[in-house]
Amino acid sequence: MSSAPDTPVRHLFFGLRLALWYATLFVIGSIAIVFLTYYLTAASLKQRDQQIIRGKLGDYSAAYLRGGVRVLAATVRTEQEVAPERLFVRVIDRGIDALVLSMPEGWDPSTLETASIRLADGTLVQVGKSTEAREALLARFRATLGVVTLSIVVVALTGGWLATQSALSPIRRLTAAVRRIIRTGRTDARVPVGGPAGGPVTNDAIDELTSLFNVMLDRIEGLVTAMRGALDNVSHDLRTPLTRLRGTAEMALAGPPDVDRYREALADCVEETDRVLVMLNTLMDISEAESGTLQLRREPVRLSDVVTRAVDLYREVADAKGVRLQVAADAAAARVDDGLIVTGDRTRLEQVAANLIDNAVKYTPAGGRVDVDVRREGSVALLTVRDTGPGIPPDEIPRIWARLFRGDASRSERGLGLGLSLVKAIVEAHGGTVGVESQPGRGSTFTVALPAG
Ligand code: ADP
Repeated sequence: MSSAPDTPVRHLFFGLRLALWYATLFVIGSIAIVFLTYYLTAASLKQRDQQIIRGKLGDYSAAYLRGGVRVLAATVRTEQEVAPERLFVRVIDRGIDALVLSMPEGWDPSTLETASIRLADGTLVQVGKSTEAREALLARFRATLGVVTLSIVVVALTGGWLATQSALSPIRRLTAAVRRIIRTGRTDARVPVGGPAGGPVTNDAIDELTSLFNVMLDRIEGLVTAMRGALDNVSHDLRTPLTRLRGTAEMALAGPPDVDRYREALADCVEETDRVLVMLNTLMDISEAESGTLQLRREPVRLSDVVTRAVDLYREVADAKGVRLQVAADAAAARVDDGLIVTGDRTRLEQVAANLIDNAVKYTPAGGRVDVDVRREGSVALLTVRDTGPGIPPDEIPRIWARLFRGDASRSERGLGLGLSLVKAIVEAHGGTVGVESQPGRGSTFTVALPAG
């Protein structure tokens, strides 16, 4: 994990990047508003100046028309005495003489806002207003806007930083939990939902991610525990046959060299090894089915097809033994239940039927019967295997589902004591149940119930 030490720095950069993005957008938007405000204010001040000038121009033209330059000069003078704002006034007589009637001292004509009107006799009357006051006002406004913009940048950066930090903190907690799990290998660690000190759960995207992550950890922990248990069971169950295998080889080696004895011991070893291999495969299947890791290729399966195939497989054995093996005594019922469908793994379901039929044929003496039936009861599909065999003693019934259990009376028959364990594990992995009704001397009835449809 060479990247581990970088992570806090990476978080910092990520947070900074987010904050910068947020601040940049915020600042661009704010600056646009500031510029617009400034532009509109400047434009409206200019417009106001021009209105004033044009108003004065009208007054002065009227005065000039009334009594020429004399009356105009008098009007200007009177106004200039009372008016707070002193205007520049110039009259150009038909473009020849320029007569300045008002020129406030120290005024720079280049900084004047002017307007002019040409009268009917060709005289040009010009009025100007200094832009100094307006410029001073706008300068103050610019300074204020500068300070405001600066504050916006600071607020945006700080706000963005704080916002991203608080948004990132649950992700940081998640990362820390993952890191802890990777480092310690312990899957019992969980990420607190809604804040480090059990803060409010807001059910937002982060809380949902955290909850899902915890659910995933629960599942992983469950699977790891189940697999560990399965491994323990398998290794425990294999110890006996392997010890037997070793014993056979050891016994052969202990005596004087004898080819026939060796041959016999080796044959025993091969046989025992085959048993161990079958046992190992079956034990693995059982463990996987029990821990929920068995891969089931689920598809709609017609239960009568499953039964037919399994029965076909054992028909010859049953015939040879003199046991009557048949499907659904009532042919009409068979037709009705032809459409009984369950969702499951066809091969595994065939294994279930085959194991039950195998036991029934195996334990039923010659002259007996084995009836296999398929029917529906409400939303449940039932598969029944009924035999007229010796039955199972009541004290053994609860134990027949355990791995490697073999009934006392059954030891003379071939078997590993794993058939019913596998049946139970597969049926339960399909969400079903399996049970037995049996009494010594009155046969046994095994019933598998699976969700129909
Ligand atoms: P196996 O048949 O290899 O011994 P199983 O797990 O299939 O192992 O069965 C466990 C035990 O249940 C058997 O040893 C037997 O005692 C009992 N059993 C199962 N099926 C029947 C049956 N149809 N009739 C009588 N006993 C049965």
